[in-house]
Amino acid sequence: YITDEYLKPYAIFKSDMKDTYVDEMEICSEFEEGIEKQEFQVFYQPVVDAKTGKIVSAEALVRWFHEQKGFISPGQFIPALEKGGYISELDRYMIEKVTGCLDQRRAEKKRFVPVSVNLSWMDFYDENMLEWIVRGLKKNNQNEQKIRFEITETSLAAIGENHTRMLMHLKENGAEILLDDFGNGYSSFGMLQDYDFDILKMDISFVRNIGVNKKSESILRAIIDMAHKLGIRLVAEGAETEEQAAFLRANGCDYIQGYYYYKPMPEAEFLQLLEEGK
Ligand code: C2E
Ligand code: MG
Ligand code: MG
Ligand code: MG
Repeated sequence: YITDEYLKPYAIFKSDMKDTYVDEMEICSEFEEGIEKQEFQVFYQPVVDAKTGKIVSAEALVRWFHEQKGFISPGQFIPALEKGGYISELDRYMIEKVTGCLDQRRAEKKRFVPVSVNLSWMDFYDENMLEWIVRGLKKNNQNEQKIRFEITETSLAAIGENHTRMLMHLKENGAEILLDDFGNGYSSFGMLQDYDFDILKMDISFVRNIGVNKKSESILRAIIDMAHKLGIRLVAEGAETEEQAAFLRANGCDYIQGYYYYKPMPEAEFLQLLEEGK
């Protein structure tokens, strides 16, 4: 399960932040204590305008710095927390942190950009959580300083019938919804037909194949074209090279998120970039 993808983001930190193997049961039993001890942090990965390179939004990604075990990657603990039924508590924590940051920036009248938080399919079974999200949306949902939600196709498929109502509920209250990891797993045109996604995030696997696989390149172009015809904007995830960024730019992809521009980073660093007008 632990791939390069999960190891790379930590290159920006010291080598003692290597990922550790942790048992799923252990993860669940140590989760609440970890929350209390503030071992979880929100990292922000900027998303840039493909044409200008300017930061237009960001994705909030959880990081767990375990007191004894060191760094544990989301690829390891998210599935465990889902199995154990703890994921909604984590997602709630993330939303609280991001909203807190957002509120503060607004109060200080400082620049901010929309930030998206990942939702798990389990969150859609938690009525209290959804109501809580909606209350937050009603309270503050200003243009430049809003929270968005990412959900994967795979998650949507797992929710079943209920998802339409839940997503609509969020959308009616002004939330923007991003379809995450598009093209990986159960891609279906039905989903694009049934929901009004605001933004589509193309899975990292397509970008990885730019310059390698002509078919992937054609699929990428076709997805960009299709999304635009549907009035949906696109983010390409995982651009790591100039070649990939250039291809995406040339083919009309709206936004790019990838190490080529920025890696996920602590809040203070992210705010610094915004201050610098990046
Ligand atoms: P995701 O939502 O698709 O997030 C994008 C992942 O791609 C992140 O991995 C990010 O660090 C990585 N990435 C971004 N640019 C590049 C690049 O250029 N190259 C490579 N190789 N990777 C890149 P991360 O942070 O390890 O998160 C993995 C997954 O864990 C996320 O995938 C998301 O599904 C889940 N996740 C992360 N935070 C949360 C959270 O707060 N709640 C929930 N429910 N899930 C989360
Ligand atoms: Mg995501
Ligand atoms: Mg993604
Ligand atoms: Mg993913």
